[in-house]
Amino acid sequence: MTNIPYKIYLSEDEIPKVWYNMKAVMKEKPDGFLNPATLKPCTAEELNQVFVSDLVEQELNTTDRYIAIPEGIRDFYKMFRPSPLVRAYCLERELDTPAEIYYKFEGTNTSGSHKLNSSAAQVYYAKKQGLTHLTTETGAGQWGTALSMACAYYHVDLTVYMVKVSVQQKPYRKSVMETYGAKVIPSPSDNTAVGRRLQAENPGTGGSLGCAISEAIETSMTTENCRYVLGSVLDHVILHQTIIGQETKAALDKYNITPDIVIGCIGGGSNFGGLIAPYMGDRIEGKNNIQFIGIEPASCPSLTRGKYAYDFGDTGRTTPLMKMYTLGSGFIPSSNHAGGLRFHGMSPIISKLYHDGYIEARSVEQTKVFEAATMFARSEGTLPAPESAHALHGAIEEALKCKETGEKKTIVFGLTGTGYFDLTAYESYNNGTMTDYIPTDKDLEKGFASLPKTE
Ligand SMILES: *Cc1c(COP(=O)(O)O)cnc(C)c1O
Repeated sequence: MTNIPYKIYLSEDEIPKVWYNMKAVMKEKPDGFLNPATLKPCTAEELNQVFVSDLVEQELNTTDRYIAIPEGIRDFYKMFRPSPLVRAYCLERELDTPAEIYYKFEGTNTSGSHKLNSSAAQVYYAKKQGLTHLTTETGAGQWGTALSMACAYYHVDLTVYMVKVSVQQKPYRKSVMETYGAKVIPSPSDNTAVGRRLQAENPGTGGSLGCAISEAIETSMTTENCRYVLGSVLDHVILHQTIIGQETKAALDKYNITPDIVIGCIGGGSNFGGLIAPYMGDRIEGKNNIQFIGIEPASCPSLTRGKYAYDFGDTGRTTPLMKMYTLGSGFIPSSNHAGGLRFHGMSPIISKLYHDGYIEARSVEQTKVFEAATMFARSEGTLPAPESAHALHGAIEEALKCKETGEKKTIVFGLTGTGYFDLTAYESYNNGTMTDYIPTDKDLEKGFASLPKTE
Protein backbone atom coordinates (compact mmCIF):
# COMPACT_ATOMS: atom_id res chain seq x y z
CA MET A 1 0.00 0.00 0.00
CA THR A 2 1.28 3.41 -0.94
CA ASN A 3 1.90 5.80 1.88
CA ILE A 4 -0.89 8.34 1.94
CA PRO A 5 0.31 11.86 2.79
CA TYR A 6 -1.33 13.96 5.50
CA LYS A 7 -2.68 16.22 2.79
CA ILE A 8 -3.54 15.20 -0.73
CA TYR A 9 -2.98 18.27 -2.87
CA LEU A 10 -4.53 19.17 -6.18
CA SER A 11 -3.01 21.77 -8.48
CA GLU A 12 -4.82 24.91 -9.61
CA ASP A 13 -5.43 23.24 -12.97
CA GLU A 14 -7.23 20.42 -11.22
CA ILE A 15 -9.92 22.71 -9.82
CA PRO A 16 -13.02 21.29 -11.51
CA LYS A 17 -14.15 23.05 -14.69
CA VAL A 18 -17.73 21.85 -14.36
CA TRP A 19 -20.35 21.43 -11.66
CA TYR A 20 -22.03 18.06 -11.27
CA ASN A 21 -25.81 18.10 -11.66
CA MET A 22 -27.07 15.16 -9.58
CA LYS A 23 -30.62 15.68 -10.80
CA ALA A 24 -29.57 14.62 -14.30
CA VAL A 25 -28.55 11.26 -12.85
CA MET A 26 -31.37 10.71 -10.36
CA LYS A 27 -33.84 8.17 -11.69
CA GLU A 28 -36.74 9.92 -10.03
CA LYS A 29 -36.46 13.71 -9.90
CA PRO A 30 -37.47 15.74 -6.86
CA ASP A 31 -40.92 17.35 -7.19
CA GLY A 32 -40.73 20.95 -8.43
CA PHE A 33 -41.81 24.24 -6.84
CA LEU A 34 -45.48 25.09 -6.55
CA ASN A 35 -47.01 28.53 -6.60
CA PRO A 36 -48.66 28.76 -3.14
CA ALA A 37 -51.65 30.71 -4.48
CA THR A 38 -52.56 28.45 -7.40
CA LEU A 39 -50.79 25.22 -6.34
CA LYS A 40 -49.60 24.99 -9.95
CA PRO A 41 -45.93 24.41 -10.83
CA CYS A 42 -43.92 27.65 -10.74
CA THR A 43 -42.84 28.90 -14.13
CA ALA A 44 -39.37 30.24 -14.87
CA GLU A 45 -40.94 33.68 -15.39
CA GLU A 46 -42.37 33.65 -11.87
CA LEU A 47 -39.05 32.58 -10.39
CA ASN A 48 -37.15 35.18 -12.41
CA GLN A 49 -38.98 37.93 -10.55
CA VAL A 50 -37.30 36.93 -7.31
CA PHE A 51 -34.16 35.10 -8.38
CA VAL A 52 -31.24 35.68 -10.76
CA SER A 53 -32.16 34.29 -14.21
CA ASP A 54 -29.11 32.08 -14.81
CA LEU A 55 -29.61 30.57 -11.36
CA VAL A 56 -33.26 29.83 -12.18
CA GLU A 57 -32.08 28.07 -15.31
CA GLN A 58 -29.69 25.96 -13.25
CA GLU A 59 -32.40 25.33 -10.68
CA LEU A 60 -34.71 23.89 -13.33
CA ASN A 61 -32.07 21.91 -15.22
CA THR A 62 -32.72 18.17 -14.86
CA THR A 63 -30.91 17.01 -18.00
CA ASP A 64 -27.28 18.19 -18.15
CA ARG A 65 -25.02 16.13 -15.94
CA TYR A 66 -22.20 18.68 -16.22
CA ILE A 67 -22.58 22.45 -16.21
CA ALA A 68 -19.52 24.50 -17.18
CA ILE A 69 -18.06 26.83 -14.55
CA PRO A 70 -17.44 30.21 -16.22
CA GLU A 71 -13.85 31.52 -16.19
CA GLY A 72 -14.95 34.54 -14.15
CA ILE A 73 -15.97 32.20 -11.32
CA ARG A 74 -12.96 29.90 -11.66
CA ASP A 75 -10.74 32.96 -11.25
CA PHE A 76 -12.42 33.65 -7.91
CA TYR A 77 -12.20 29.98 -6.92
CA LYS A 78 -8.45 30.03 -7.55
CA MET A 79 -8.02 32.50 -4.69
CA PHE A 80 -9.15 29.93 -2.14
CA ARG A 81 -9.35 26.55 -3.85
CA PRO A 82 -8.51 23.71 -4.05
CA SER A 83 -9.31 23.17 -0.40
CA PRO A 84 -7.24 20.65 1.58
CA LEU A 85 -8.18 17.00 1.80
CA VAL A 86 -6.61 15.77 5.00
CA ARG A 87 -5.94 12.26 6.24
CA ALA A 88 -6.88 12.43 9.93
CA TYR A 89 -3.92 10.36 11.10
CA CYS A 90 -3.85 12.04 14.51
CA LEU A 91 -7.55 11.49 15.13
CA GLU A 92 -7.22 7.85 14.03
CA ARG A 93 -4.40 7.41 16.55
CA GLU A 94 -6.42 9.12 19.27
CA LEU A 95 -9.39 6.82 18.59
CA ASP A 96 -7.15 3.78 18.15
CA THR A 97 -9.26 2.71 15.19
CA PRO A 98 -8.36 0.59 12.16
CA ALA A 99 -10.58 2.91 10.07
CA GLU A 100 -8.99 5.41 7.70
CA ILE A 101 -10.48 8.85 8.11
CA TYR A 102 -10.28 11.75 5.64
CA TYR A 103 -11.83 15.18 5.82
CA LYS A 104 -12.29 17.89 3.24
CA PHE A 105 -11.68 21.22 4.98
CA GLU A 106 -13.64 24.16 3.60
CA GLY A 107 -12.76 26.60 6.38
CA THR A 108 -9.50 28.05 5.08
CA ASN A 109 -10.99 31.12 3.38
CA THR A 110 -11.76 34.27 5.39
CA SER A 111 -15.52 33.72 5.36
CA GLY A 112 -14.65 30.49 7.12
CA SER A 113 -16.92 28.02 5.33
CA HIS A 114 -17.92 26.27 2.11
CA LYS A 115 -20.57 28.94 1.45
CA LEU A 116 -18.12 31.01 -0.60
CA ASN A 117 -18.34 28.32 -3.34
CA SER A 118 -21.92 29.29 -4.05
CA SER A 119 -21.78 33.00 -3.23
CA ALA A 120 -19.02 33.46 -5.82
CA ALA A 121 -21.19 31.84 -8.46
CA GLN A 122 -24.40 33.60 -7.49
CA VAL A 123 -22.94 37.11 -7.48
CA TYR A 124 -21.15 36.45 -10.77
CA TYR A 125 -24.45 35.65 -12.48
CA ALA A 126 -26.20 38.61 -10.83
CA LYS A 127 -23.50 40.93 -12.17
CA LYS A 128 -23.77 39.32 -15.60
CA GLN A 129 -27.50 40.07 -15.58
CA GLY A 130 -26.75 43.74 -14.86
CA LEU A 131 -28.15 43.70 -11.32
CA THR A 132 -26.68 46.24 -8.93
CA HIS A 133 -28.10 45.08 -5.60
CA LEU A 134 -28.72 41.79 -3.80
CA THR A 135 -30.48 40.92 -0.56
CA THR A 136 -30.15 37.88 1.62
CA GLU A 137 -30.56 36.56 5.14
CA THR A 138 -27.96 35.08 7.41
CA GLY A 139 -28.32 33.09 10.59
CA ALA A 140 -25.00 32.18 12.10
CA GLY A 141 -23.39 34.64 9.70
CA GLN A 142 -21.32 32.45 7.41
CA TRP A 143 -23.52 32.92 4.38
CA GLY A 144 -23.75 36.68 4.87
CA THR A 145 -19.98 36.86 5.18
CA ALA A 146 -19.39 34.71 2.11
CA LEU A 147 -21.83 36.78 0.11
CA SER A 148 -20.25 40.03 1.34
CA MET A 149 -16.88 38.82 0.07
CA ALA A 150 -18.30 37.91 -3.32
CA CYS A 151 -20.23 41.20 -3.60
CA ALA A 152 -17.05 43.12 -2.82
CA TYR A 153 -15.18 41.17 -5.51
CA TYR A 154 -17.80 41.66 -8.22
CA HIS A 155 -18.85 45.19 -7.08
CA VAL A 156 -22.51 44.55 -6.25
CA ASP A 157 -24.35 46.22 -3.32
CA LEU A 158 -25.65 43.91 -0.60
CA THR A 159 -28.21 44.10 2.22
CA VAL A 160 -28.08 41.28 4.77
CA TYR A 161 -30.90 40.55 7.22
CA MET A 162 -29.17 38.87 10.13
CA VAL A 163 -31.17 36.93 12.74
CA LYS A 164 -31.32 39.24 15.77
CA VAL A 165 -30.05 36.72 18.34
CA SER A 166 -27.09 35.96 16.08
CA VAL A 167 -26.20 39.65 15.90
CA GLN A 168 -26.08 39.60 19.70
CA GLN A 169 -24.22 36.29 19.93
CA LYS A 170 -21.78 37.02 17.10
CA PRO A 171 -21.11 40.76 16.88
CA TYR A 172 -17.84 40.18 15.04
CA ARG A 173 -19.63 38.52 12.15
CA LYS A 174 -21.46 41.78 11.56
CA SER A 175 -18.15 43.66 11.62
CA VAL A 176 -16.66 41.34 9.00
CA MET A 177 -19.62 41.80 6.68
CA GLU A 178 -19.48 45.56 7.10
CA THR A 179 -15.76 45.51 6.37
CA TYR A 180 -16.56 43.91 3.03
CA GLY A 181 -19.11 46.68 2.42
CA ALA A 182 -22.45 45.00 3.21
CA LYS A 183 -25.36 46.69 4.99
CA VAL A 184 -26.36 44.46 7.94
CA ILE A 185 -29.85 44.76 9.47
CA PRO A 186 -30.90 42.77 12.56
CA SER A 187 -34.08 40.80 11.80
CA PRO A 188 -36.95 41.14 12.48
CA SER A 189 -36.67 44.82 11.66
CA ASP A 190 -38.99 47.75 11.09
CA ASN A 191 -37.77 47.98 7.48
CA THR A 192 -40.30 45.59 6.05
CA ALA A 193 -44.02 44.93 6.42
CA VAL A 194 -43.33 41.30 7.30
CA GLY A 195 -40.74 42.30 9.90
CA ARG A 196 -43.19 44.68 11.57
CA ARG A 197 -45.93 42.05 11.51
CA LEU A 198 -43.72 39.32 13.03
CA GLN A 199 -42.61 41.67 15.79
CA ALA A 200 -46.20 42.58 16.58
CA GLU A 201 -47.10 38.87 16.74
CA ASN A 202 -44.05 37.89 18.85
CA PRO A 203 -42.91 40.88 20.90
CA GLY A 204 -39.25 40.58 21.89
CA THR A 205 -38.56 37.76 19.43
CA GLY A 206 -34.92 37.01 18.63
CA GLY A 207 -35.88 36.21 15.08
CA SER A 208 -35.35 33.17 12.94
CA LEU A 209 -33.84 32.30 9.62
CA GLY A 210 -37.29 31.88 8.11
CA CYS A 211 -38.24 35.38 9.18
CA ALA A 212 -35.02 36.94 7.88
CA ILE A 213 -35.69 35.26 4.53
CA SER A 214 -39.12 36.89 4.36
CA GLU A 215 -37.61 40.31 5.00
CA ALA A 216 -34.85 39.83 2.44
CA ILE A 217 -37.35 38.76 -0.23
CA GLU A 218 -39.64 41.69 0.50
CA THR A 219 -36.73 44.13 0.22
CA SER A 220 -35.59 42.58 -3.06
CA MET A 221 -39.09 43.11 -4.49
CA THR A 222 -39.17 46.77 -3.48
CA THR A 223 -35.62 47.66 -4.52
CA GLU A 224 -34.64 48.68 -8.04
CA ASN A 225 -32.43 46.27 -10.01
CA CYS A 226 -32.27 43.86 -7.12
CA ARG A 227 -32.74 40.13 -6.55
CA TYR A 228 -32.78 37.81 -3.58
CA VAL A 229 -30.13 35.09 -3.16
CA LEU A 230 -30.06 32.10 -0.83
CA GLY A 231 -27.10 30.23 0.62
CA SER A 232 -28.45 26.71 0.91
CA VAL A 233 -31.45 24.44 0.27
CA LEU A 234 -31.99 25.25 -3.42
CA ASP A 235 -30.80 22.90 -6.16
CA HIS A 236 -28.47 25.43 -7.76
CA VAL A 237 -26.69 25.97 -4.44
CA ILE A 238 -26.03 22.23 -4.18
CA LEU A 239 -24.85 22.36 -7.79
CA HIS A 240 -22.19 24.96 -6.93
CA GLN A 241 -21.13 23.00 -3.86
CA THR A 242 -20.35 19.94 -5.99
CA ILE A 243 -16.93 21.48 -6.40
CA ILE A 244 -16.28 19.98 -2.92
CA GLY A 245 -17.17 16.43 -3.86
CA GLN A 246 -15.40 16.56 -7.20
CA GLU A 247 -12.17 17.80 -5.62
CA THR A 248 -12.47 15.13 -2.93
CA LYS A 249 -12.95 12.42 -5.52
CA ALA A 250 -10.12 13.71 -7.72
CA ALA A 251 -7.74 13.65 -4.74
CA LEU A 252 -8.77 10.20 -3.51
CA ASP A 253 -8.74 8.77 -7.04
CA LYS A 254 -5.01 9.56 -7.19
CA TYR A 255 -4.54 6.84 -4.60
CA ASN A 256 -7.33 4.60 -5.91
CA ILE A 257 -9.34 5.17 -2.75
CA THR A 258 -13.12 4.79 -2.81
CA PRO A 259 -14.75 5.63 0.51
CA ASP A 260 -16.98 3.14 2.29
CA ILE A 261 -18.81 5.90 4.13
CA VAL A 262 -19.29 9.59 3.31
CA ILE A 263 -20.63 11.79 6.10
CA GLY A 264 -21.76 15.39 6.17
CA CYS A 265 -23.63 17.74 8.47
CA ILE A 266 -27.00 18.85 7.19
CA GLY A 267 -28.62 22.23 7.74
CA GLY A 268 -30.20 23.07 4.42
CA GLY A 269 -28.26 20.25 2.78
CA SER A 270 -25.89 22.13 0.47
CA ASN A 271 -22.45 21.02 1.70
CA PHE A 272 -23.57 17.42 2.10
CA GLY A 273 -25.21 17.43 -1.32
CA GLY A 274 -22.07 18.91 -2.84
CA LEU A 275 -19.76 16.48 -1.07
CA ILE A 276 -21.65 13.36 -2.04
CA ALA A 277 -22.67 14.41 -5.58
CA PRO A 278 -20.16 12.56 -7.80
CA TYR A 279 -20.19 9.52 -5.52
CA MET A 280 -23.98 9.53 -5.38
CA GLY A 281 -24.15 9.73 -9.17
CA ASP A 282 -21.98 6.60 -9.35
CA ARG A 283 -24.00 4.92 -6.65
CA ILE A 284 -27.25 5.54 -8.53
CA GLU A 285 -25.63 4.00 -11.60
CA GLY A 286 -24.57 0.95 -9.61
CA LYS A 287 -20.84 1.75 -9.66
CA ASN A 288 -20.28 1.81 -5.90
CA ASN A 289 -22.02 0.86 -2.72
CA ILE A 290 -21.10 3.80 -0.52
CA GLN A 291 -23.03 4.51 2.66
CA PHE A 292 -24.07 8.18 2.84
CA ILE A 293 -24.90 9.62 6.26
CA GLY A 294 -26.26 13.08 7.01
CA ILE A 295 -26.04 14.34 10.60
CA GLU A 296 -28.40 16.98 11.97
CA PRO A 297 -28.93 18.60 15.37
CA ALA A 298 -31.39 16.87 17.70
CA SER A 299 -32.92 20.28 18.34
CA CYS A 300 -33.82 20.84 14.68
CA PRO A 301 -34.38 17.32 13.31
CA SER A 302 -35.92 17.90 9.88
CA LEU A 303 -34.87 14.62 8.23
CA THR A 304 -35.11 12.29 11.22
CA ARG A 305 -38.40 13.61 12.60
CA GLY A 306 -39.86 15.90 9.93
CA LYS A 307 -42.62 15.28 7.42
CA TYR A 308 -42.07 14.92 3.66
CA ALA A 309 -44.47 17.57 2.45
CA TYR A 310 -44.82 20.77 0.47
CA ASP A 311 -43.87 23.71 2.65
CA PHE A 312 -42.76 27.31 2.56
CA GLY A 313 -39.07 28.14 2.91
CA ASP A 314 -39.79 31.06 5.23
CA THR A 315 -41.82 32.00 8.29
CA GLY A 316 -43.62 34.80 6.44
CA ARG A 317 -44.93 32.21 3.96
CA THR A 318 -43.83 34.13 0.87
CA THR A 319 -41.62 31.62 -1.00
CA PRO A 320 -42.76 29.06 -3.55
CA LEU A 321 -43.73 25.74 -1.98
CA MET A 322 -41.00 23.11 -1.94
CA LYS A 323 -41.41 19.38 -1.44
CA MET A 324 -39.03 18.57 1.38
CA TYR A 325 -38.61 17.07 4.81
CA THR A 326 -39.75 19.84 7.09
CA LEU A 327 -40.67 20.66 10.67
CA GLY A 328 -43.08 23.30 9.37
CA SER A 329 -42.19 26.91 8.57
CA GLY A 330 -43.64 27.88 11.95
CA PHE A 331 -40.98 25.83 13.76
CA ILE A 332 -38.39 27.92 15.61
CA PRO A 333 -35.54 25.99 17.24
CA SER A 334 -34.87 26.53 20.92
CA SER A 335 -32.76 29.61 21.60
CA ASN A 336 -30.24 27.60 23.65
CA HIS A 337 -29.22 25.88 20.44
CA ALA A 338 -25.79 27.24 19.50
CA GLY A 339 -24.63 24.79 16.91
CA GLY A 340 -26.14 26.21 13.72
CA LEU A 341 -28.11 24.08 11.24
CA ARG A 342 -31.33 25.78 12.35
CA PHE A 343 -33.38 25.72 9.15
CA HIS A 344 -36.83 24.09 9.48
CA GLY A 345 -36.64 22.29 6.12
CA MET A 346 -34.19 20.35 3.99
CA SER A 347 -32.98 20.57 0.39
CA PRO A 348 -35.51 18.98 -1.98
CA ILE A 349 -32.69 16.94 -3.59
CA ILE A 350 -31.43 15.59 -0.26
CA SER A 351 -35.03 15.02 0.86
CA LYS A 352 -35.76 12.97 -2.25
CA LEU A 353 -32.56 10.92 -1.96
CA TYR A 354 -33.37 10.26 1.69
CA HIS A 355 -36.95 9.36 0.86
CA ASP A 356 -35.73 6.91 -1.81
CA GLY A 357 -33.33 5.24 0.61
CA TYR A 358 -29.99 6.45 -0.76
CA ILE A 359 -29.11 8.41 2.37
CA GLU A 360 -29.25 7.71 6.10
CA ALA A 361 -29.84 10.44 8.63
CA ARG A 362 -28.98 10.72 12.32
CA SER A 363 -29.40 13.43 14.89
CA VAL A 364 -27.10 14.38 17.72
CA GLU A 365 -27.31 16.62 20.81
CA GLN A 366 -25.13 19.68 20.89
CA THR A 367 -23.04 18.78 23.97
CA LYS A 368 -22.00 15.58 22.16
CA VAL A 369 -21.16 17.67 19.12
CA PHE A 370 -18.90 19.93 21.15
CA GLU A 371 -17.30 16.92 22.82
CA ALA A 372 -16.34 15.66 19.35
CA ALA A 373 -15.22 19.15 18.32
CA THR A 374 -12.95 19.43 21.35
CA MET A 375 -11.40 16.03 20.75
CA PHE A 376 -10.76 16.99 17.14
CA ALA A 377 -9.23 20.34 18.04
CA ARG A 378 -6.89 18.65 20.52
CA SER A 379 -5.83 15.84 18.16
CA GLU A 380 -5.93 17.33 14.66
CA GLY A 381 -5.23 20.92 15.70
CA THR A 382 -8.05 22.49 13.70
CA LEU A 383 -10.88 24.24 15.55
CA PRO A 384 -14.05 23.12 13.78
CA ALA A 385 -17.29 25.02 13.30
CA PRO A 386 -20.01 23.46 15.47
CA GLU A 387 -21.96 22.68 12.30
CA SER A 388 -19.02 20.76 10.90
CA ALA A 389 -18.58 18.95 14.20
CA HIS A 390 -21.90 17.19 13.59
CA ALA A 391 -20.28 15.38 10.66
CA LEU A 392 -17.18 14.83 12.73
CA HIS A 393 -19.29 13.25 15.47
CA GLY A 394 -20.71 10.85 12.89
CA ALA A 395 -17.24 9.99 11.62
CA ILE A 396 -15.96 9.28 15.14
CA GLU A 397 -18.97 7.08 15.81
CA GLU A 398 -18.30 5.05 12.66
CA ALA A 399 -14.58 4.82 13.41
CA LEU A 400 -15.35 3.49 16.89
CA LYS A 401 -17.63 0.86 15.36
CA CYS A 402 -14.68 -0.22 13.23
CA LYS A 403 -12.60 -0.48 16.37
CA GLU A 404 -15.12 -2.96 17.75
CA THR A 405 -15.47 -5.04 14.61
CA GLY A 406 -11.87 -4.69 13.43
CA GLU A 407 -13.07 -3.48 10.03
CA LYS A 408 -10.79 -1.14 8.13
CA LYS A 409 -13.34 1.13 6.54
CA THR A 410 -12.52 4.34 4.73
CA ILE A 411 -14.53 7.22 6.13
CA VAL A 412 -14.70 10.62 4.46
CA PHE A 413 -16.41 13.57 6.08
CA GLY A 414 -16.93 17.21 5.27
CA LEU A 415 -15.35 19.68 7.67
CA THR A 416 -17.30 22.64 6.42
CA GLY A 417 -15.83 25.47 8.42
CA THR A 418 -13.76 27.01 11.16
CA GLY A 419 -14.98 27.63 14.70
CA TYR A 420 -13.30 31.00 15.20
CA PHE A 421 -16.62 32.81 15.23
CA ASP A 422 -18.29 30.33 17.56
CA LEU A 423 -16.26 30.98 20.68
CA THR A 424 -19.30 32.00 22.71
CA ALA A 425 -20.65 28.52 22.14
CA TYR A 426 -17.29 26.91 22.92
CA GLU A 427 -17.13 28.99 26.08
CA SER A 428 -20.52 27.74 27.25
CA TYR A 429 -19.44 24.17 26.53
CA ASN A 430 -16.15 24.68 28.36
CA ASN A 431 -17.73 26.18 31.45
CA GLY A 432 -20.45 23.55 31.58
CA THR A 433 -23.43 25.81 30.98
CA MET A 434 -24.35 24.36 27.59
CA THR A 435 -27.55 22.34 27.68
CA ASP A 436 -29.29 20.04 25.24
CA TYR A 437 -32.76 20.49 23.97
CA ILE A 438 -34.74 17.85 22.16
CA PRO A 439 -38.20 18.97 21.08
CA THR A 440 -41.04 16.77 22.26
CA ASP A 441 -43.53 15.34 19.77
CA LYS A 442 -45.94 17.95 21.07
CA ASP A 443 -43.47 20.75 20.29
CA LEU A 444 -43.14 19.39 16.76
CA GLU A 445 -46.91 19.20 16.32
CA LYS A 446 -47.03 23.00 16.55
CA GLY A 447 -44.67 23.29 13.59
CA PHE A 448 -46.53 20.64 11.60
CA ALA A 449 -49.76 22.54 12.15
CA SER A 450 -48.21 25.38 10.11
CA LEU A 451 -47.85 23.18 7.01
CA PRO A 452 -49.86 24.51 4.08
CA LYS A 453 -52.74 22.46 2.73
CA THR A 454 -51.89 21.35 -0.78
CA GLU A 455 -54.81 19.06 -1.55
C1 LIG B 1 -24.11 27.02 6.66
C2 LIG B 1 -23.19 26.02 7.17
C3 LIG B 1 -23.56 24.67 7.25
C4 LIG B 1 -24.90 24.15 6.90
O1 LIG B 1 -25.41 24.45 5.66
P1 LIG B 1 -25.66 23.36 4.57
O2 LIG B 1 -26.38 24.05 3.50
O3 LIG B 1 -26.44 22.25 5.19
O4 LIG B 1 -24.33 22.89 4.13
C5 LIG B 1 -22.62 23.78 7.71
N1 LIG B 1 -21.39 24.17 8.10
C6 LIG B 1 -21.02 25.46 8.06
C7 LIG B 1 -19.66 25.83 8.53
C8 LIG B 1 -21.90 26.42 7.58
O5 LIG B 1 -21.52 27.69 7.53
